[in-house]
Amino acid sequence: MVLALTVPVAMAVRAATPQDQATIAIPDAVVEPTPTPSVTPTVEVEEDEGPEPTPEQRPDPKKKAEPPRIPERGPGTWQTSRFAAESDRGDGRTVRVRVRVEKTLPIKADDAAKEAAKILHDDRSWQRSENLRFDFVGSGDSADLTINIATPATTDKNCLPARTGGELSCRNGNEVNLNAKRWLLGARAYGDDMENYRRYLVNHEVGHFLGHGHEGCPAAGERAPLMMQQTKGVGKCKPYPWPN
Ligand SMILES: [Zn+2]
Repeated sequence: MVLALTVPVAMAVRAATPQDQATIAIPDAVVEPTPTPSVTPTVEVEEDEGPEPTPEQRPDPKKKAEPPRIPERGPGTWQTSRFAAESDRGDGRTVRVRVRVEKTLPIKADDAAKEAAKILHDDRSWQRSENLRFDFVGSGDSADLTINIATPATTDKNCLPARTGGELSCRNGNEVNLNAKRWLLGARAYGDDMENYRRYLVNHEVGHFLGHGHEGCPAAGERAPLMMQQTKGVGKCKPYPWPN
């Protein structure tokens, strides 16, 4: 975990100026209620591959036999989904969405787009409550919102000035940057339930795009609000991946 810090710090220096103009809105990881900054020991993910493996790495007690291999960094180029799907809602403001996956990741952009569309078209997601239509567009079309799934290093770079520490995801301007580690490995609060964790991840970051800020657990035993940072844990709440 400590080693991962060197990457975002170095990039913060290099990429500070060009990123500034894209960050009018408040990105995810900046608005953190907790005083702990970017190291976030609460986001505990089993990491068995880092840029510089150390001898004391523990054997991983993973439940799944073969966790996907996720490169720490990638080329910064994208495979853009060709999957297109219009909303079946008749009215509301249209938001054109495209999905991109960083090259070298073991994720197919079309599959990710299908999954994201299924999530955002669900009645429990934002369309109904915000009176929106999410139209998924294929590559070559312009979009209002881009959902990127990227390596940890590229996510960190695209999220600046927010610090995602190689672990977290963010929304920055009209781009949602999902860390591939989270897309493929999930987070503790959701255990092995990747379907629901991905629902949370997409809905939460798109919630930022729609202007929603963070919320806390209202009371023990209640559903965690979607805009709670559930990747870091849900406290005494129960994980819940929808805004409605
Ligand atoms: Zn957030």
